[in-house]
Amino acid sequence: VLEVRALQKSFGPTQVLRSIDLTVRRGQVVALIGPSGSGKTTVLRSLNGLEVPEAGIVHFAGSDAIDFASSPSRRELLGLRDHSAMVFQQFNLFPHRTVLQNVIEGPVQVQKRPVAEATADALALLERVGLADKRHAYPFELSGGQQQRVGIVRALALKPELLLFDEPTSSLDPELVGDVLEVIRELASEGWTMVLVTHELQFASHVADNVVFMDGGVVVESGPPSEVLVNPKNDRTKQFLHRLL
Ligand code: ATP
Repeated sequence: VLEVRALQKSFGPTQVLRSIDLTVRRGQVVALIGPSGSGKTTVLRSLNGLEVPEAGIVHFAGSDAIDFASSPSRRELLGLRDHSAMVFQQFNLFPHRTVLQNVIEGPVQVQKRPVAEATADALALLERVGLADKRHAYPFELSGGQQQRVGIVRALALKPELLLFDEPTSSLDPELVGDVLEVIRELASEGWTMVLVTHELQFASHVADNVVFMDGGVVVESGPPSEVLVNPKNDRTKQFLHRLL
C-alpha cells in the first residue's frame, strides 16, 4: 500500500530524517523502533501530512506519488489523509466534544458522510472496544486507556487503508497499557495494515511482520522480528536492544 523513498526532513539546522526508505504491504504490521530522537514520530507525521519533508517520495498505491522536492500543494498534502489515520501518543481528542462527537467529526466534516450513518458506525466501533456506554462522556471523564481506545476508534471510523500509531501506550499508566495493546493486537489479526512506533519490544515482536530499526535519521536495519529483535546484524541495533534488556 505504501512506498517511501529517501525521505529527508530538517528542523532548523538539525537533519532529523537523512534518508528514510520504507515499504508497507497490505495487511502488514510494521513496527518502527529506535532511540529517542531518531525521527520515528517525524516519519509518521510526514506520512499523514503533519510534517512536510524537504525531499523524498511518498507513494500510496492507487494515487499519484508525492515528491516533496517539488513543493507539493496543500491539497496534495491533505490528500495523504485519504489514505491513513493517526493514533497519537497524547490521544489528541477534542476536549469540549463528547466521545461520539470526537469519533464522527472526521467522517462527517471531512468525508461528508451522513450523520446517521457515521453515528451508527461509531457506536458499533465504540461497542467493540467496550466504550459504547461512554458515548456522551467528555474526554476528561475518561481514564487514559479509555481515551486512547477512543483515539483508536476515531482513526478506524475514517476507514483508512493504513493506521499510524505513534507510541500509543507511552503516556498511559502501566496498568492501562494492556487493554490498549489488546485492541491493537486484535486489529492486527483482523488484517489492518499499520505502522506502529513503539518502545514495547515484546509487543512488537508478537504483532509485527516487519521491524524497522531507525537511528540518526536512517533505517539501520529492517526485517522480521525473529531477525531484527533476536539476531540483529548491525552493531547499533545490538547496542539499542542490549540497553533495553
Ligand atoms: P521519541 O522516541 O523520543 O518520540 P522519535 O524517534 O519519535 O523520538 P522525533 O519525535 O521524530 O523522534 O524527533 C526527532 C528529532 O526532531 C528530535 O531531536 C526532536 O527534538 C526534533 N523535532 C521534532 N519535531 C520538531 C519540531 N517541530 N521542531 C523542532 N525540532 C523537532
